[in-house]
Amino acid sequence: MIRFASLGSGSKGNATLIESGSGESDTRILLDCGFSTKELEIRLASLERSADTINAIVITHEHSDHVAGAGRLSRKYNIPVWLTVGTYHMCRDHDFAQTRFIDCHTDFEIDAINLHPFPVPHDAREPCQFVFSDGDSRLGIVTDLGCHTPHILNHLKGLNSLLLECNYDRDMLFSGAYPRILKERVASFKGHLGNEQSKDLLQKLDLTKLKHVIGVHVSEKNNTPEYALQALCDGMNCTLNDVSLASQKNGFSWRELN
Ligand SMILES: [Zn+2]
Ligand SMILES: [Zn+2]
Repeated sequence: MIRFASLGSGSKGNATLIESGSGESDTRILLDCGFSTKELEIRLASLERSADTINAIVITHEHSDHVAGAGRLSRKYNIPVWLTVGTYHMCRDHDFAQTRFIDCHTDFEIDAINLHPFPVPHDAREPCQFVFSDGDSRLGIVTDLGCHTPHILNHLKGLNSLLLECNYDRDMLFSGAYPRILKERVASFKGHLGNEQSKDLLQKLDLTKLKHVIGVHVSEKNNTPEYALQALCDGMNCTLNDVSLASQKNGFSWRELN
């Protein structure tokens, strides 16, 4: 069984917990660590977990909303950090307690959880995103995609659960306060997925096994929860009861795949 929860998602910090097993034999992975150690400890406590039980920190790319707290957390609790060589070299603080390099074309295991990484178009050195599996169910997490490609859709086949970036509403972004260069970066094919693109991605995916779809990395300035949720509904051809969002403040609480 896979369980997962978000500690918070958005441009001020991202972190997701993925677990399998029960009791003593749990495997617990922290995907990205964009919060300070103190903040992360508080957020973990609200999910009834503590940092000393985390088996691994896995990093998707070097942007500070994903990696800002990884070094300190790794050192404080002696947790290994798994990441690509490119991401490692671009992290300002990469003095990790232990470092494990990954190849973003090769699956690997952390205890009972299989991780399937794949490279993505995003403006970082060697970014990747992941599908997590315990052999029975598959959880895809894509928080930072500039655009979706046939290659990415291929990796997201047959998922039971998907955490999907819904970063911006195009009209809000381009009429908003961001400097022009930043607007263009966000909307570019190596920036973020907007609501329309997320909807389009869902329409191209095989959704037959999908139980949970949760929008993540929703901009607080360039999007509204209502727009993001509507995009997910339109993409899935479902009602608002079947979709939800991760918030910057609280993420979302535990979900289970079995
Ligand atoms: Zn990023
Ligand atoms: Zn990000």
